[in-house]
Amino acid sequence: MSLQLKNIVSTIQAKWFGDTPDSLIDTISIDSRSLQNSPSTLFFALVGPNNDAHIFIEELIDKGVLNFVVTHIPEGCETKANFLVVQNTLDALQLFAAYYRSLFEFPVIGLTGSNGKTIVKEWLNFLLSPDYNVIRSPKSYNSQVGVPLSVIAINEKHNLGIFEAGISTRAEMIKLEKIIKPTIGILTSIGSTHDEGFSNKEEKIKEKLTLFKNSKVLIYQRNPVVDACVDPNLKVFTWSFENKEADVFISKKEINAENTTIQYRYKGDSNELEIPFVDKASVENAISCLLVLLYFEYDKATIQNRIQLLYPVEMRLKVKNGINNCSIIDDSYSSDYQSLKIALDFLESQKKHANKTVILSDIFQSGLSNDELYTKVSQLIVSNKINRVIGIGETISEFQNKFANCITFKNTAEFVTNFENLNFANETILIKGARSFQFEEIVYLLEEKTHETVLEINLNAISHNLNYFKSKLEPGIKLMVMVKAFGYGSGGLEIANLLEHHKVDYLGVAFADEGISLKNGGVKLPIMVLNPENTSFPAIIQYQLEPEIYCLKGLHAFLKIAKQKNLHDYPIHIKLDTGMHRLGFEENTIEELIAALKENTTVKVKSVLSHMASSDDLIHQDFSLSQISLFDSLSTRMIKELNISPIRHILNTSGISNYPLAQFDMVRLGIGLYGVSNDPLEQKYLENVGTLKSVISQIRTIPAGESVGYGRRFMAEKPTKIATIPIGYADGISRAWGNGVGFVTIKGQKASVLGSICMDMLMVDVTEIDCTEGNAVIIFGENPTVSFIAKELNTIPYEILTSISQRVKRVFYR
Ligand SMILES: *Cc1c(COP(=O)(O)O)cnc(C)c1O
Repeated sequence: MSLQLKNIVSTIQAKWFGDTPDSLIDTISIDSRSLQNSPSTLFFALVGPNNDAHIFIEELIDKGVLNFVVTHIPEGCETKANFLVVQNTLDALQLFAAYYRSLFEFPVIGLTGSNGKTIVKEWLNFLLSPDYNVIRSPKSYNSQVGVPLSVIAINEKHNLGIFEAGISTRAEMIKLEKIIKPTIGILTSIGSTHDEGFSNKEEKIKEKLTLFKNSKVLIYQRNPVVDACVDPNLKVFTWSFENKEADVFISKKEINAENTTIQYRYKGDSNELEIPFVDKASVENAISCLLVLLYFEYDKATIQNRIQLLYPVEMRLKVKNGINNCSIIDDSYSSDYQSLKIALDFLESQKKHANKTVILSDIFQSGLSNDELYTKVSQLIVSNKINRVIGIGETISEFQNKFANCITFKNTAEFVTNFENLNFANETILIKGARSFQFEEIVYLLEEKTHETVLEINLNAISHNLNYFKSKLEPGIKLMVMVKAFGYGSGGLEIANLLEHHKVDYLGVAFADEGISLKNGGVKLPIMVLNPENTSFPAIIQYQLEPEIYCLKGLHAFLKIAKQKNLHDYPIHIKLDTGMHRLGFEENTIEELIAALKENTTVKVKSVLSHMASSDDLIHQDFSLSQISLFDSLSTRMIKELNISPIRHILNTSGISNYPLAQFDMVRLGIGLYGVSNDPLEQKYLENVGTLKSVISQIRTIPAGESVGYGRRFMAEKPTKIATIPIGYADGISRAWGNGVGFVTIKGQKASVLGSICMDMLMVDVTEIDCTEGNAVIIFGENPTVSFIAKELNTIPYEILTSISQRVKRVFYR
């Protein structure tokens, strides 16, 4: 892309402010974190219900970005950049994308449906790329924002587009239609997801079909409901298992051990096709692909050759723990320029290590000449501050001199031979390669080998929950997030990094060493330490942590050390006891507290806080209100007598929900961030964050009369199929969850825990479940939920979450 800024102004109906209308724009960005933002970037400041990218503009200008689409110009920035002012920045982005799309004329496949869009898109890309320069939506970029960003990546060399569109409510598809303008439509399966936004199924289908209103053909599986909704003037190309009138009639489906054979009739001929999957959804997705290949008039043999190579699609980027304290990002199934850009942005968001390595295969289907392509790739590598590049493949080897610190290998085998000499340690490694390079071998070498149990943390769910609670705050109220106890068991540093990106105001930890490890990890947000020991005060000062002071003894001890160090206005937080009776100054010590703080310049009361004993339980509402009012009066007294203006805060998660009038200046969010609410109504708005997963190690069937486990606490009354799972009480699974009380989920079905839970293992009943060794096991997550387990075990979700041992590997994903 290369467009003059002034030409964009009218396209997006903007008002122009700035000095350099001739500026050339070559990239569009909405991500303030991206290191790819540059002077030739046009940054669209999107405004969401809880997030407003306008707050990043000043920072971006400092980093050299010069061109912005905004709803208003941030104060003080007026003369520092070019601004295109519009009513709504998302509308502007969409208008721009529709305009950009109109500059190109080649076949574009548009996909929508409830399931399978991303998989069919990835597969079509794989099937068609030997013959076309394909541009496709990266990952599952199918939203009102994702679609414009996908389309904007088209360049002159592409000659086939594949874009997916997803909607959740009415009137959304028409906007996406204008941007994608598909010439060939595919409707994948119509399920029940996102039904809430529609009054019935017909309405949903009709809305989806608007994507194809200007298409030349629509490909779909015959189904009476869909048939009735399709515009009779639209040409269709259909398939069916039942309806012989479909263009492609599947007369037979045979499921074998590892694949499925179908018999299909097309134009009077009967053909056989082997699909390398056995599950229904994959087979149907492969048939959608078959129809596209038939529509493109591929011959039988080519179709069979390519379809039998279809592979499982990894839908999301994941960070895994690697050997020698490395972190690895596994994107080993694709290599194209667009997805490289996304993977590099993801790499940047993982700030765990200062050193970054990219292992990269030859890049295919860029639409550019190799020279241009590797020049652009090397620019990306430079702007993302990658320390070393390991190139694998004949072509990238040829262009090695374009990269600064780069080693290359002709193929993966050569890399494997030299693996030991590459000394991977303490770095983040992005592994990105085309399928044919079989980078899974590299992933295997680099992955830390521990047992198979992992706690998966969904970072998007954390962002969602954060935004939900933000939406409950009055304007201007600050937010402290509690990341004590290793982020409630979910991972301290990773979550702190995410919160820093979301610009929360404060972090809270319990002990100084928790704060120190966050600071060592590069966290810049101010951190309050809830229960500092006097012995930790020097370290607190050294690491710029902010202590909570809860008694006179502590105050004097801190003042003494701070004075020795000649500190001025060092931030401290004063905790008042208003009824919790745990830590804090009681009412009768306030006078002394005020006296001790008066006329002191060593410390500064940054905030005054208290903690509620029962904000979750409305039975104690009167008591809670009395705590709030005592907090109000005590803190007001401090403010008056000391002439200070501290941040005042008393609410934790359930306080935010139940006492919205007591937000004062800040709230302290804890458990809610991690997806747990004490209120079943509110729970519906939160997303599950952690999923504790394991695998089946071994399966056996025991006859009636045999026992299972220590103490023979389970006796089989009938032949029973037993699966052993490598997770036990040392991993944090309570023994009380054993002996038929608890269950795990395998293939969506309940398997109850048999006998006593061991230190490192437990056994479950899988008599009724069709499963094999190596199958995934869910200990908690969507089902059972942490809240459910807590209730059954007579405890609270906090205890379940924070009990999961540190030996369980945490895996973060978006
Ligand atoms: C843990 C903690 C919180 C957060 O509580 P949640 O119930 O998890 O929201 C808030 N304030 C203090 C003082 C805490 O110790």
